[in-house]
Amino acid sequence: MINVTKTFFPPLKEYRKHLRRIWGNEWLTNRGELVQELEMKLKNRFKVPYLTLTTNGTLPIQIALKVLANGGEVITTPFSYIATTSAIIWENCTPVFVDIDPDYLTIDESTIESAITSKTTAILATHVFGNPCAIELIENIAEKHKLKVIYDAAHCFGVEYDGQSIFNYGDLSTCSFHATKIFHTGEGGAFFTQNAKLHEELFYGHNFGHKGPEEFYGVGINAKMSELQAAMGLSVLPYMEDIMEARRYVVEFYDRNLDFSRMQRLKIREKTEWNYSYYPVILESEDALLRSLKRLKDRNIYPRRYFYPSLNTVDFAGKIKMEISEDISSRILCLPLYKGLKDTDLKLIVDCI
Ligand SMILES: *Cc1c(COP(=O)(O)O)cnc(C)c1O
Repeated sequence: MINVTKTFFPPLKEYRKHLRRIWGNEWLTNRGELVQELEMKLKNRFKVPYLTLTTNGTLPIQIALKVLANGGEVITTPFSYIATTSAIIWENCTPVFVDIDPDYLTIDESTIESAITSKTTAILATHVFGNPCAIELIENIAEKHKLKVIYDAAHCFGVEYDGQSIFNYGDLSTCSFHATKIFHTGEGGAFFTQNAKLHEELFYGHNFGHKGPEEFYGVGINAKMSELQAAMGLSVLPYMEDIMEARRYVVEFYDRNLDFSRMQRLKIREKTEWNYSYYPVILESEDALLRSLKRLKDRNIYPRRYFYPSLNTVDFAGKIKMEISEDISSRILCLPLYKGLKDTDLKLIVDCI
């Protein structure tokens, strides 16, 4: 069976080596040696000033909203994973959707201003499939209207924009290290900011607000990464160059062999060093998509309708019409993309589509 992705398993021997360190330290969580080492390695890799590891990629979005959005209206994209919208609602904020750009698939920055009201506190946008939003324009709008900018950068491990890590943009960015993402710790995530004061607030927020054992900075939650998760991350990290290279090969195969007269590929924004995180194709119609899916399923190949449905259509999210996002969602398919796909599999996938 071929799925849209396949979790990378590092050699068990190397995972055991890290587990042995945990047993040696007799320390399982609360910022142990392995979590600190992984944090340091990622900080150096991305060249970011502040990074905090978390237990998944959803809690950092919630903590960010708690700290920055203040129960207000949050302008957001309908074309993302459900966590982006549900985090807004969970934090008692109101999602205000604006439509997306039909080529880049990120939030349509030209419609953000018309959605701003006196209750708007933040913009929460997703760098879709590792493709950056219109960062400079969003920054200008946010500055003009005094809004905070949070980027859901769950797909963005390794992405660079205009010469630096994409995690360096906005007030803060979050990432996911879930088993289905390019780099993983089983479950896991992180938040990034350039602002020392904000970093401090987020950091306290992810550990019950603890400022020492008996003193509290404010209300917090538990979003700490454990040593077991960090052990997986430290075992996967040395393979990232390999993984990226294998993914690049698959992406180039699709680029060369798919017939783009009848479907649309993702347009990557200029100044971007992309990470080969997903291979979406936008077919001519939902009907064409369902036919392709059927043909693939008959050969035991399961791509994923991603993102589907458009989040504005989910009943708890308001049900406002978003023409472009709904249209793209109905026709978009993410093709299998992972290290270990064989040429014969790739040929078969291309033929089915
Ligand atoms: C995976 C993902 C999340 C959630 O991350 P978890 O680590 O699964 O909690 C949030 N947003 C987007 C866009 C994602 O793809």
